[in-house]
Amino acid sequence: MHEFSVMEGLMTLLADHAQAHAITRITRVRLVVGQLRGLDVNQLRGCFDLLVEGTSARSATLEIDFVPAEGHCDRCDKTFVLPNFVLTCPVCGDSRAVRTTKGRELYLEKFEGTKE
Ligand SMILES: [Zn+2]
Repeated sequence: MHEFSVMEGLMTLLADHAQAHAITRITRVRLVVGQLRGLDVNQLRGCFDLLVEGTSARSATLEIDFVPAEGHCDRCDKTFVLPNFVLTCPVCGDSRAVRTTKGRELYLEKFEGTKE
């Protein structure tokens, strides 16, 4: 399950950041996930709930900013949403001129906590 290892990595990162800032209780976590990562948001949430048990993030709210895949055709100079991972320009039908501009994101945007 890919989602689990992603969330495990996130938890390690969170723990490191929290420790560096002397935060003892994490209250809010914001994750940015691009569509092209192929991750299931519900599964990410489920893994988060499992992994935070017994940690300083156990009562944290998880926010997931899901970024739809977007492509740009260098031939038409147009930007468009990519449906179903298909890398083809909807205007000229060319696939070689299309590059993805959004949807590859996967990072911890921010988190909040207290120093109680
Ligand atoms: Zn095009």
